[in-house]
Amino acid sequence: MMNKVWFDSKLVKWNNAKVHIMTHGLHYGTGIFEGLRCYKTKSAKAIFRLDDHLKRFFKSAEALSMRLPYSFGALKKAVITIAKLHKEKNLYIRPLAFYGCGKIGPDPRDAKINVCIFAVPLKHYLAKEAVSVKISPFKRIPYFSYAPGTKICGAYFNAALSSKWAHRKGADEALMLDHKGNIAEGAAENLFFIKNGKIFTPKSTDILNGITRDTLIKVLPDIGFRVIERITKPRELLNADEVFFCGTGVEIHAIGRVENRKTGNGGIGPITQRIKDFYSEITHGEIQKYKKWLTLT
Ligand code: PMP
Repeated sequence: MMNKVWFDSKLVKWNNAKVHIMTHGLHYGTGIFEGLRCYKTKSAKAIFRLDDHLKRFFKSAEALSMRLPYSFGALKKAVITIAKLHKEKNLYIRPLAFYGCGKIGPDPRDAKINVCIFAVPLKHYLAKEAVSVKISPFKRIPYFSYAPGTKICGAYFNAALSSKWAHRKGADEALMLDHKGNIAEGAAENLFFIKNGKIFTPKSTDILNGITRDTLIKVLPDIGFRVIERITKPRELLNADEVFFCGTGVEIHAIGRVENRKTGNGGIGPITQRIKDFYSEITHGEIQKYKKWLTLT
């Protein structure tokens, strides 16, 4: 944890990357963030879908009327610098921008915009091979209450409440419903399920259409699956043959229990395993066709 942090264009020591208590983002959630992964490949460390993550970072900033004081190119360079600084090859990288010291009140007005980028070694986001999930009583913030497709810090209170609730109930992670009561996603993961050899993912106005979800939709035809996006009722998940989470942090992670009921044999199912392996080959630069998604450091 002693690695340096890129903080407003300077490299500062980990322990010196601090903010003031008047930081607007701390009070009102007026920040945005991203999560990327860097993998060890045969040639070098490589960041997966860097441009796509940064595009979403800029989109999130725009949704908060935040004019980032750095260009796309400058932030791209900064992410690469941080990845390079670390000795570990497999990293989780977190760019974060927030309104700094400002006046009391939700409008950030004159607050300065701060940007930082740091990385942590992260092997597994979820610990067990197959996790248990419970449906959260807190519905996912609907699309009409904020800017969908963005990662705004304040909006994650909803995910935090759900995750905390699920943990209290003895589950590993929360599943969230959208405002219509259909399955949306996990607290910070998208969801896929398999029934009779077909692969489905919930379609909803209220989910973050994640980059990993997009990756799977694009690549799974290569191994013989076309992903079907459709509105999903909770009972469909209870009857699925396999269920898994996907996301940058979680990668591909089997769900062995939904609402205390076993999915398949409660472990990782054969199709999920195949997808997990294929995704790993892609992110580690082993599939020529998808090397275009890797930025070598
Ligand atoms: N949904 C939510 C709410 C998330 O926070 C994340 C993590 N960014 C995901 C889905 C997965 O998105 P991605 O694949 O882009 O990491």
